[in-house]
Amino acid sequence: MADKRDYYEVLGVAKNATPEEIKKAYRVLGKKYHPDVNPGNKEAEEKFKEVGEAYAVLSDAEKRRQYDQFGHAAFEQGGMGAGAGGFSDFGGFGDIDFTDMFGDLFGGIFGGGRRSNGGPSKGANLHTSIKITFDEAMKGVEKEIELTLKEECPTCKGTGAKPGTTPFTCPKCKGKGQVVYTQNTLFGVTRSVQVCPDCHGTGKIIKDKCSDCGGTGYKSVKKTLQVSIPAGIDDGQSIRLSGKGEPGIMGGPRGDLLVEIRVQDHPIFQRDGDNIYSVAPMSFATAALGGDVRISTIDGDVLYEVKPGTATDTRIRLRGKGVPSIRNKNVRGDHYVTLVVDVPTKLTGEQKDLLKKFDDSLKGKNPEDAPKKKKRLF
Ligand SMILES: [Zn+2]
Ligand SMILES: [Zn+2]
Repeated sequence: MADKRDYYEVLGVAKNATPEEIKKAYRVLGKKYHPDVNPGNKEAEEKFKEVGEAYAVLSDAEKRRQYDQFGHAAFEQGGMGAGAGGFSDFGGFGDIDFTDMFGDLFGGIFGGGRRSNGGPSKGANLHTSIKITFDEAMKGVEKEIELTLKEECPTCKGTGAKPGTTPFTCPKCKGKGQVVYTQNTLFGVTRSVQVCPDCHGTGKIIKDKCSDCGGTGYKSVKKTLQVSIPAGIDDGQSIRLSGKGEPGIMGGPRGDLLVEIRVQDHPIFQRDGDNIYSVAPMSFATAALGGDVRISTIDGDVLYEVKPGTATDTRIRLRGKGVPSIRNKNVRGDHYVTLVVDVPTKLTGEQKDLLKKFDDSLKGKNPEDAPKKKKRLF
């Protein structure tokens, strides 16, 4: 920045030029050296840069005052192309943003028109839901979802301007997307920041809109996304896909996509927190004699040994056979099983005979006792 020309000289105006004279000079020179008019001309490009830089300072009353006082030294830190942040800490000159200005005018060759403090913000979140089976919720599953997302328009590369044209920096907010209103009061200067009414916060004005996207810079595209659903997910819980929401505002990050998981009911298992509940049938004979009962779990069937004389509605606990914790699938809840004696309804003649004999044997064992015993009970 050593041999910088005087800004007034660059624009060819007097030191006491009015804002109108400065603007007029900038328009004339800007047109003359515009890269579209001088394609591939390095010298014109340099001139154009120089003119733009001079105008950025002289068109701003505060910056002009600082320049008049300190000259180029006022803006030395950072320098051209140093990025938006370079100037922000330089007391009192926080608003200067050459990169931005040239980014707009040159269609991005100086780094893409980033803004220092115009309020890039995250896009809105999107919501969707998918149905999975109970088993999928227990084991975890990869699912594909199809949805319509806004993507940068390929025709205008997201600028919203007709190809061959360039959106220009909003003159009202100088591309910041917001306007600062200052007011002098008895107690000092008050500042209020509002979204620029001319460009609605985009910082850019588009004269010729891209016909492909209607000037929005975005197109709706059908996308297929992979969703990794962890084991243990419960009905109504959501998975967040970062950056799959609406595009950000003014270069901000995209919002997120929130996928609500709907878990279908299971014919046998019921879930409560990390525990599973179910009912298992136990044969008449097994209940009396003891033995193995086949029980369905989410890991498949297991054999559970019941003691002789197990009553119906006995509840047993299968430790660690419940729902895996969503944070650590090795930590699991329990599975509670209610054993219910299965009373046979369809019996063959032979089975009926056997049961009768069995019943008689109970009476026959002590034919006199049974009624007597009963009497004694009362
Ligand atoms: Zn477009
Ligand atoms: Zn604006």
